[in-house]
Amino acid sequence: MRFASLGSGSRGNATLVEAGATLVLVDCGFSCRETERRLARLGYSPADLSALLVTHEHGDHVRGIPLLARKYELPVWMTRGTLRMLPDGDLPVVHPVELHSDISIGSLRVRPFAVPHDAREPCQFVFEDGAHRFGMLTDTGRMTPHILECLDACDALLLECNHDVELLAAGSYSAALKQRVGGPLGHLSNAQAGSLLSQLDTSRLQHLVAAHLSDKNNRPALAQAALATALDCEPDWIAIADQEEGLDWRAIA
Ligand SMILES: [Zn+2]
Ligand SMILES: [Zn+2]
Repeated sequence: MRFASLGSGSRGNATLVEAGATLVLVDCGFSCRETERRLARLGYSPADLSALLVTHEHGDHVRGIPLLARKYELPVWMTRGTLRMLPDGDLPVVHPVELHSDISIGSLRVRPFAVPHDAREPCQFVFEDGAHRFGMLTDTGRMTPHILECLDACDALLLECNHDVELLAAGSYSAALKQRVGGPLGHLSNAQAGSLLSQLDTSRLQHLVAAHLSDKNNRPALAQAALATALDCEPDWIAIADQEEGLDWRAIA
């Protein structure tokens, strides 16, 4: 199994997961043309995708989904709540995601799990290929026992480090937006991500990627420092899924 990011942050998110001949794209917050360009950078075209998975209806996760699904006739997996909220629900094939039922897509087994976030029925995913587990967590306001259980003992993790609490407090956002971002239905701070990480079994962890960093309220070095402290590793071991550059393929072996 391997994974890569087309880009991550408030201006667009998309993550690739591949196992054998199965290639899925989780979320697509980029235009169709931009997605084609970013996929090409990682060696693929949208026509190579087996399926699209959607975590929730916010624009930075769904902007490119309808056109991509129609143009390339891709099946889309999402919760019924997310489907109801999509501005353009005209999708060729939709499979409902049930929050406590695993999904099989080719060589991948996908486990959806619920997260607290200000969307209709948001979820995140753990991917398994029979040998390894890759867990994703972004767009989550706070950790829950259920999230900890789902992400335990993964071989690779992509973990939201949205903001530094002090930069958010001192920054230019309105009081309401600060409250939303930092609140229990907003986004994980560096400190929250570190705390979550310190409560997981990380003995199998081969890759740790900080994702969904805020341009204004975070710095890569702060996210890396928080996760490195939690994991007791060197900060530069922790990768960043960047807004523009994304993240090159990471193989889980
Ligand atoms: Zn987001
Ligand atoms: Zn969101």
